[in-house]
Amino acid sequence: MTARHPDDAPVIGLDLGGTKIAAALVAGDGTVLTRHSLPTPATEGAEAVLDALAKEVRAVWAPGATAIGVAAAGVIDPVTGTVTSATDTIRGWAGTALAAGLAGRTGLPVACDNDVRAAAATELPAPHGQGVTMIYAAVGTGVGGAVAVDGRMLHGAAGIAGHLGHLPSPEAEGLPCTCGATGHLEAIAAGPGITAHYTRMSGLPAARLETVAARAAEGEPHATAAIVLGAEAAGRALGGLANTLGADRVVVGGGVPRIGALYLDALNAAFTAELMAPLRGLRPVPPRGGPDAAVLGAAALTRTLPLHHPRTTTGALR
Ligand SMILES: [Zn+2]
Repeated sequence: MTARHPDDAPVIGLDLGGTKIAAALVAGDGTVLTRHSLPTPATEGAEAVLDALAKEVRAVWAPGATAIGVAAAGVIDPVTGTVTSATDTIRGWAGTALAAGLAGRTGLPVACDNDVRAAAATELPAPHGQGVTMIYAAVGTGVGGAVAVDGRMLHGAAGIAGHLGHLPSPEAEGLPCTCGATGHLEAIAAGPGITAHYTRMSGLPAARLETVAARAAEGEPHATAAIVLGAEAAGRALGGLANTLGADRVVVGGGVPRIGALYLDALNAAFTAELMAPLRGLRPVPPRGGPDAAVLGAAALTRTLPLHHPRTTTGALR
């Protein structure tokens, strides 16, 4: 582990999700030079996933590319380069020595972080966050997030900072959360939480959030109520956090906000109602995003986080 990567050299960005690995060779000015992707061998275990990551590095590597940034699913500790905890989306992923495993396979130094935090970092103004305090929420299958204070992304103990979904939420009282506790925001505001609440109220099954959204669009009152409650719960939690941190920027991304105006209007109203007077002009915004946001965020990790070097110099590249 040594200092940051020089700012002008090309680097490789890898975005590791449960279904796909995306790779890009990124020039020092942020231009994507080469792209490649392949399916994540999620059921084959951590070693197979590390092998696939190394294969992706070889697919985009070019002479002069001297570091790898990995944005990965799960709770990632950038200091140790390991997966602190993870769901079973990738079999055996928790505990994996991600940085060491990939550095050993490629001969290149590796920086790594959680995928939501890497994407969130691209929402901070360049070059060094410019003192912005930002809350970034990703509302999808779960409620993830990232927090930057005065331009610096928070990692926290074991890399766990930004887990907005595990804030206590009055709307979720008594509901079981994926973390094992009860009453957390994720249980009422994530896609599965909204869907489950709709089924509790209506007695009707709904396999997917899209089904609930379609029924709400047709005027079904229980579907509308479940979506609005999830949005309000998220908005209140974000408003409270904005007061706590003194946020200048609040970004709400992920699949759930794509429901549209019904969701966003309820979230914005609940958010605004929580704000203290000095923050009254603050409004949540969608991510600036773009199709390359994930790999660009991954590549940028090589310039902001510790690099983990291979133990030997017999790697396949450079
Ligand atoms: Zn929880």
